Amino acid sequence: MASTSAVPANHSLHDMMHDLMLKSDETEDDGISRELDLTEVGIIRKLRWHIDRIPILEKFRRSVDMAAMPTNREEYLRTKLHQAYPKLHATVLKNISAEGQKLVSPEKIKEIAEIFLQIAGGFHKKWFWTYDDRFNIRLTKFRNTPPTVSYPETFHLFPKLPSELRHMIWGFAVWTQDRFVDTYRLRRIKSAPCPALFLTCKEAKLHATKMYKRVRNGDLLYGKIMPASRKVRGPLISFENDIVMIGDWELWNSLGKPYPKEIVKLQAMGLPLRPIHKRIEKLSTWGFHRVLLERPHYVHPELLFYKNSRRHLTNFTKYGVRCDWGWTWTDNMEEVWTVDGVHNYIDDSVRKYIARVFPPVPGDDCICSLCERADLANGEPLLYQKPDPSDFEEHERIFETIDAGYYWGGNPMSMAQGLRLSNMQLL
Ligand SMILES: [Zn+2]
Repeated sequence: MASTSAVPANHSLHDMMHDLMLKSDETEDDGISRELDLTEVGIIRKLRWHIDRIPILEKFRRSVDMAAMPTNREEYLRTKLHQAYPKLHATVLKNISAEGQKLVSPEKIKEIAEIFLQIAGGFHKKWFWTYDDRFNIRLTKFRNTPPTVSYPETFHLFPKLPSELRHMIWGFAVWTQDRFVDTYRLRRIKSAPCPALFLTCKEAKLHATKMYKRVRNGDLLYGKIMPASRKVRGPLISFENDIVMIGDWELWNSLGKPYPKEIVKLQAMGLPLRPIHKRIEKLSTWGFHRVLLERPHYVHPELLFYKNSRRHLTNFTKYGVRCDWGWTWTDNMEEVWTVDGVHNYIDDSVRKYIARVFPPVPGDDCICSLCERADLANGEPLLYQKPDPSDFEEHERIFETIDAGYYWGGNPMSMAQGLRLSNMQLL
């Protein structure tokens, strides 16, 4: 399954810089706004490890006068960037020189520095930085906006449709509300807005109500979950339709200790589960179909979407078992969303935005660690062929085949962002 690429495996910084120079020689130089292809992103990403850019960017952020921000934000930032430029330029040069490879022309370094700063400034056309966890910065592509479908604003014949059709349409509408329910680690509902369909008309409310449950006191683990029509205190949730924010959920951990480890031990000794375990099991049987992860986050989206991508977390070698306990709620997962904060402290108007990452919308790149690893391989041999974003079976197959901990471990230069939970050692 090795890659068929002709580029040798020991692709050093020297080679990368050389490639970059060749590429720019081949293409007509239309200046620094030139869009990057993936190979070059690999170079930029690898270069990041050679460039101590954070102190410079922090200084840059502090130097921006928020009150003086004019309407032409990009122009303003660009000017400020160039004021901060000489120092970054010097740092890039120093780090590349430290490698003993002074092969890059000052112009090329200038271009590289400009690209770094555009990304950091949040106005690069294609890429921005996000924090993956507190220290890990990840290069993220702006996602495609799903194609908008034109539809009539009004449809006066709706009441004349047969009631069965109307009911079906109300049923679909519950999903298309894209209603967000915020929770504390899937244990307690923090906020849940009134479903829009409850405010639409009597018939809509009647049918939508059937698709909701009421959670007494918002307590998902200890509160009773009952039909929405019940007149008790508690927010509403549709396990099938709502997009549920899971917060910093980490394997149902308690004080940093994930429960699955304890479960495996108890089961091996033939001991009964504790009440909290049973509560988790009970809630898990409801399942969640659409979830939202916040970033920074220890749980990577593919862990929720592809069962085999978490193989290294669910194999308990000491006991010789694979235990998926505590993951039951992901069994019917249909969509994973993330909040991508644009890595930019300069302008509050750059809003955090929410994007569906699994399954990818047509035309979007898959952001799973298999695909990311393949995109950034830069000619290094891979143990697999990059799967098609829409080929879920092939994803599962590769995740099952590749020993991710081994394959990605060790070398921070080549390590994918996913497939590991920071600060978490299981058995
Ligand atoms: Zn993928």
